[in-house]
Amino acid sequence: MDYQAILEEISHEIQPELGRGKVADYIPALSSVDPHQFAFSIITTKGDAYHIGAYETSFSIQSISKLFAFTLALDIYGSDLYQRVGVEPSGNPFNSLVQLEYEQGIPRNPFINAGAIVITDLLISHYRDDYKAYEQILSFVRAVSDDLAISFDPIVSSSEMDHGFRNLALANLMKSFDNLQNDPRSVVQTYFKQCAISMSTQKLARSMLYLANAGTDPITNRRYLTPQQARRINAVMLTCGHYDASGEFAFHVGLPGKSGVGGGVVAVVPNKMGICVWSPALNRYGNSHVGTLALQKFVEKTGLSIF
Ligand code: GLU
Repeated sequence: MDYQAILEEISHEIQPELGRGKVADYIPALSSVDPHQFAFSIITTKGDAYHIGAYETSFSIQSISKLFAFTLALDIYGSDLYQRVGVEPSGNPFNSLVQLEYEQGIPRNPFINAGAIVITDLLISHYRDDYKAYEQILSFVRAVSDDLAISFDPIVSSSEMDHGFRNLALANLMKSFDNLQNDPRSVVQTYFKQCAISMSTQKLARSMLYLANAGTDPITNRRYLTPQQARRINAVMLTCGHYDASGEFAFHVGLPGKSGVGGGVVAVVPNKMGICVWSPALNRYGNSHVGTLALQKFVEKTGLSIF
């Protein structure tokens, strides 16, 4: 299949939609990002890469980082992890407090904010230090994207810390239900740092290869997860990766995927490729408008859906 020609077609077709939607202005440092940017990258498990647009431009990965923290925690804690966080879609916005109150402080899944905050808490407990937990997340991201230069943007994380009242509320609520072991403020601070990691679509597509290849990086042969664990992460991505638009994403795209409010969306075609698309303007669910559309077109043109 001529993937490069398909990316060019998609890039042409999405032009009228570019900039439609709204950048995530609840994190002030993200509000000045140009909404008209676009990039799409594919890397196959054989290492062939195809790109279009601003594929070398780094952006804030935000919730895509939840995927990496979840992988690390699953490797460390195995299925014990699921005593602290579930694997059900939430059907609620990513930062909702209501459901958490009803469900006694156990978040529905690792991809809503409350679930990701619990995962960060588990990592801090394991590494016995918040800075070390962040460092481990970062070095995992560097390993799977094969780039030692990846780092976080301190302006974005401190901007989020200054306005992160809702995430702090989630952490405090979980602490009140005994589902947080460490200091809520330091957990949230570490969570914001992992969200503020900057990467390009090129690097993010590369970083999906271990999930496309049953837990083992097909290029370096490094094993990060068992095949069963990788399958489970892909399943949670499919059912929960797009907040309360996860059903719609499964319906229209049909690939395990994870979005972030920086406008990035990663996706996995099992046994075939890692994908990342980026365009900063978001739809009302907090997912990239053009990113979702571009993935839908990609699946229509290639037939590469899991269904
Ligand atoms: N750091 C963001 C938050 O906690 C992540 C949300 C997202 O990317 O969906 O609000």
